Amino acid sequence: MKYIGAHVSAAGGVENAPLNAHEIGATAFAFFTKNQRQWSSPPLDQRSIDLFKERCRQFLYTPAQILPHDSYLINLGHPETDGLLKSRAAFTDELHRCEQLGLDRLNFHPGGTLGGIDEESCLFRVAESINRGLDKTRGVCAVIENTAGQGTNLGHTFEQLAYIIDRVEDKSRVGVCIDTCHALVAGYDISTPAGAKRMLDRFDAVVGINYLRGFHLNDAKKGVGSRVDRHADIGQGTIGFASLRQILKDVRLDNLPFILETPDTSLWPETIRLLKGLAA
Ligand SMILES: [Zn+2]
Ligand SMILES: [Zn+2]
Repeated sequence: MKYIGAHVSAAGGVENAPLNAHEIGATAFAFFTKNQRQWSSPPLDQRSIDLFKERCRQFLYTPAQILPHDSYLINLGHPETDGLLKSRAAFTDELHRCEQLGLDRLNFHPGGTLGGIDEESCLFRVAESINRGLDKTRGVCAVIENTAGQGTNLGHTFEQLAYIIDRVEDKSRVGVCIDTCHALVAGYDISTPAGAKRMLDRFDAVVGINYLRGFHLNDAKKGVGSRVDRHADIGQGTIGFASLRQILKDVRLDNLPFILETPDTSLWPETIRLLKGLAA
């Protein structure tokens, strides 16, 4: 089976995320463990941690159904020392927060060159950043998200993801989250069910399906290879319903969380119900 949900709000405290997920009928959820637009946030307080765990038990969310997302400010391949050190510290803090919450994975974007470093050196830095973060924490898997390839951001090809994973020392604590919108705009034509299957086969050949720790299920506003990251509601974009159904039907993807990051949040309860039916 597949777990299906959305990236929900954690406003007012992380303990509100499982509650918000339950209210939309989700069997999976994503959330930010801290303010995603600030470098530092106060540490999680014990009351929030306890309540988060209690609500996850109450609403039947296991760690395999929860995919926290890190801050957008972090660039683990930053070309400059200051930016790199700041990013590494923030990433380690995010891993630590997941550990405190009893979670087993953290989803993040690898980073970008900002034009100050060549692509291979940048990918090498990302891998080194992951190694350092994993060394300082326990039990949390670093889940690299494929990107749209906007600007100088890397991680838009499966080869780049494989390059990073190859250089991570503990292979049991590194994984991938495929974002369907990012895949299409990065050049993987999943606008047909056959194309969606081809993309997954290609991922399996280059990276390995066994590395998958989650999916972001989004339609796309822009076309194949446009490298423009604009998410569309399910069935309302260039990917379309049939291709997303193909992905949900794939038995290789059983037991993964599928997270909506689509713009119209009022559609989530209905969309989640529909997708659960498809995946069943
Ligand atoms: Zn993301
Ligand atoms: Zn995403």
